[in-house]
Amino acid sequence: MKLYPTSVRSRLTLWYVGVLAVLLLAYGAGSFFYLLLSMRHQMDHNLLEDKETVEGQIVTKPGGLTVQSHHGEEGEPSVRRFIEIWTPDGKLLYRTAQLQGQALGAPPVLGEKLKRNEFASVVLSNGLRVRVVTSFHHMENGLIVIRVGHNEESMGRELNEFGTVLAIGFPLGVFLAGIGGYALAHKALAPISAMARETKKISAEDLAARLSIRNPQDELGQLGAVFNNMLSRLQQAFERLRRFTADASHELRTPLTAMRSVGEVALQDGKTAAEYRDVIGSMLEEVDHLTRLVESLLVLSRADAGHVRLNREEVSLVSVAQEAVSVLEVLAEEKRQTVAVTGEPSLAVFADRLILRQAIVNLLDNAIKYSPPDSRILVRAGEGEADEVFLEIIDRGPGIPIEQQPYVFDRFYRVDEARTREWGGTGLGLSITRWAVEAHDGDVTLKSQEGSGSVFRVSLPLARKPAQP
Ligand code: ADP
Repeated sequence: MKLYPTSVRSRLTLWYVGVLAVLLLAYGAGSFFYLLLSMRHQMDHNLLEDKETVEGQIVTKPGGLTVQSHHGEEGEPSVRRFIEIWTPDGKLLYRTAQLQGQALGAPPVLGEKLKRNEFASVVLSNGLRVRVVTSFHHMENGLIVIRVGHNEESMGRELNEFGTVLAIGFPLGVFLAGIGGYALAHKALAPISAMARETKKISAEDLAARLSIRNPQDELGQLGAVFNNMLSRLQQAFERLRRFTADASHELRTPLTAMRSVGEVALQDGKTAAEYRDVIGSMLEEVDHLTRLVESLLVLSRADAGHVRLNREEVSLVSVAQEAVSVLEVLAEEKRQTVAVTGEPSLAVFADRLILRQAIVNLLDNAIKYSPPDSRILVRAGEGEADEVFLEIIDRGPGIPIEQQPYVFDRFYRVDEARTREWGGTGLGLSITRWAVEAHDGDVTLKSQEGSGSVFRVSLPLARKPAQP
């Protein structure tokens, strides 16, 4: 059996009741002892006053002493007052009749050092509790010891009553506080339960739902806002994933459909060997396209999953650009284009050589693809502002309309859908470039005017300044 409650509500109540019980106990005990001390103090004060009165009422009679008050020989009529007079060597000289022969404590012992006003609580042989003050007094014929006692019962009764009130009030108070605490905890925790109920309804299909927030300023409101923010991010991620999957399936279906229709046509009538070669040729082209597409998809999905580890080293930007040019040289030659690389070879960046090269290859591939034959493409490296290096790929191609520029880095976005597909574009090149550059803490921007070419600029942090001449 579990003794510690599992619900926060019960635990809060338990803590509350526990703390309150300790406080009440401390308060009750404190008040009780304060009352006890102040009553005793008052009683001792009264005793002293009474003793002084008694001192003035002692009368010497033949054969002994007596206490003479205007109420008679026995002093005050009150049954609460007892008097004894002793010699310092323990001989009883006088004792009130109310004591009925009982002693107010042991007789004084000769030689014992007498103190002025010594207080003590004694129990008479009939069980009565009495507070006694013992003091010495000088008479003409010597020293006497006076003892005056007051009945303590009424003080005891008052303390008892007070204790009883405390003893009844304590469990009652704790019980009521427990009920109140439980109700309060319920009220305080109700918004959390409501949140839990609302959260249960949210599923992957319904990420548009949000938690309702009553007070955005309080702690629960802040928690709700954080949760809603997380939901928004999840929703965006899900949306991106859904769109990406739909686009990717669409992209994969196009070459497959093309291959299928080319194959079906080829099967219809008898064809010459040259025609079959053509068919196989165009099918292989589609396979190439498919391969490129699948490779790009793989790169992006690994990048999205964060599985790509960069092997960074200090590399010369110009030398990486030259490597990219040599990869694509054949394509440029086919279109009789010239590609020139300029810049200081000692401009270095701290990068993963292969990934950076892929980013540049994609930009250069576009420049070659979209520029007219016989045109010139320039790859220019240089030092930008604030420890930054740049690489610009400048072409004399058709340019990109200004309204489309914000979207060219999006996945599967193509400016001219039909034409770029025809040229073998996958629509993923620039997204891969952007990811690769951003992974190196840089960014890639585009400056272009329709009809007068494009400039793609990659900016990266500088690893080392070029050597000064
Ligand atoms: P693709 O594989 O289709 O080239 P990218 O992501 O590399 O895909 O480019 C996206 C689109 O941006 C291209 O389809 C093309 O329309 C346009 N684009 C990219 N680079 C250039 C360029 N240098 N000149 C003109 N248009 C370009």
